[in-house]
Amino acid sequence: MEERLQADVTIIGAGPSGAVAACLLRRLGYSVHVLERTHFPRFVIGESLLPQCLQNLEKAGCLEAVAAAGFQSKTGARFQHKGHFESIVFDDKFSQGPGTAFHVKRAEFDQILAQCAKEQGADIMFGMTVTSVDLATQQCQVEAVDENQVSHIFESKFVLDASGYGRVLPRLLGINKPSELSPKSTLFSHIKDNISDPDYRRAETLITTHPQHRDVWYWLISFSDGTSSIGVVGPPEHITPFQEQGIEGLKQAVNQDPYLSGLLGEAVYHDVPRQLNAYSGNVSDFWGDGFAVLGNAGEFLDPIFSSGVTVAMQSSDLAVRTLHRHLQGENPDWDKEYVAALRQGIETFKCYVNGWYSGDFQDVIYSHVTNHSVKSKIASILAGYAWDVENPYVAQPQKRLNALVALCQE
Ligand SMILES: Cc1cc2nc3c(=O)[nH]c(=O)nc-3n(C[C@H](O)[C@H](O)[C@H](O)COP(=O)(O)OP(=O)(O)OC[C@H]3O[C@@H](n4cnc5c(N)ncnc54)[C@H](O)[C@@H]3O)c2cc1C
Repeated sequence: MEERLQADVTIIGAGPSGAVAACLLRRLGYSVHVLERTHFPRFVIGESLLPQCLQNLEKAGCLEAVAAAGFQSKTGARFQHKGHFESIVFDDKFSQGPGTAFHVKRAEFDQILAQCAKEQGADIMFGMTVTSVDLATQQCQVEAVDENQVSHIFESKFVLDASGYGRVLPRLLGINKPSELSPKSTLFSHIKDNISDPDYRRAETLITTHPQHRDVWYWLISFSDGTSSIGVVGPPEHITPFQEQGIEGLKQAVNQDPYLSGLLGEAVYHDVPRQLNAYSGNVSDFWGDGFAVLGNAGEFLDPIFSSGVTVAMQSSDLAVRTLHRHLQGENPDWDKEYVAALRQGIETFKCYVNGWYSGDFQDVIYSHVTNHSVKSKIASILAGYAWDVENPYVAQPQKRLNALVALCQE
């Protein structure tokens, strides 16, 4: 007879949302199985963290290990367009909380989080691909196949889907929903940057707007070991031709911006570039009988403001709080306590993402806002404090942004 393994909660995926959820559940005393398809360390994109997520890491008991890893400290975001620079310094933020974060290689970062979850008692199984679920009965059943094609059944009271781009439950339950955002494509790689410009700030994520196309932008995220992550993002019609030429296409894209071209003139492109297309996604239901969807498996917007890992960890925190009440036999309001609470931050980021691609928020950024009160509230959002409703730019994101745009465009 097939072996059936039991725990209170089964988590699909051991990325940031899965690992943080596992830590939080262990801290509340629940038994947890985490099923991860790959073996760590493994590459994932999403390397620039926001200060808000340091609070999530601390709550999960992972901050000490992350802080000790020697990652590049991150103090803010720097925007560049046609040689004009504007910096958003996170520590100028309006909200309470940490004012710095890190640039991390995710292979190492995710392994640290998984190790933290393991040390706190989570049972993480690597090389285990979830293939089907049965949530109709009181005991949820998750089927996973190991690398010898042997099938295993995991039984639990609840399933959290933290499978990121795998989108396991959205696919299996038919709750995938297209993103409202127009599809974007990207081409990226790690490089040995050899940057010698003394004015370059490794502690700030550099966002460059393409000199001619405002909906095309580049990230440059520098690590503590002399390497950087470089990527170009934009509508498929701009990015596909670069993707087709591989590393030469990435160099060509970089060379279209005179500042980046000079800054990275001595860079060595030693990795095979990677590409992603139409990476935004959404779900019709964030929860249902026996399950909730976390992180990228739920809604993912866009990389422009490095919000992905922060949203992922915040979703774990909110879902585990609600799940705890559920497992205690209470009757939590999932729509309010999980979905609406999570969407507060997602919707805030969404206004700024839309504003970036329409050009409106770029007008704000490059117009050099000097009003400290306004700047600190924008800095808060870009530092990830997108759930702090004390900030009027979070409480009424679109209305406030529209007013600010109108002022800057004058
Ligand atoms: C181009 C680009 C740039 C980005 N840059 C940033 C950035 O700078 N900062 C930032 O915060 N975010 C960034 N993001 C977003 C970031 O990548 C994600 O938000 C983040 O990784 C989400 O974490 P997660 O735990 O939800 O999913 P993931 O990190 O994707 O982890 C999911 C895990 O589930 C596993 N899995 C998948 N399918 C199965 C299965 N069937 N069975 C078992 N396991 C499975 C996977 O192997 C994986 O390990 C970027 C995204 C893109 C597209």
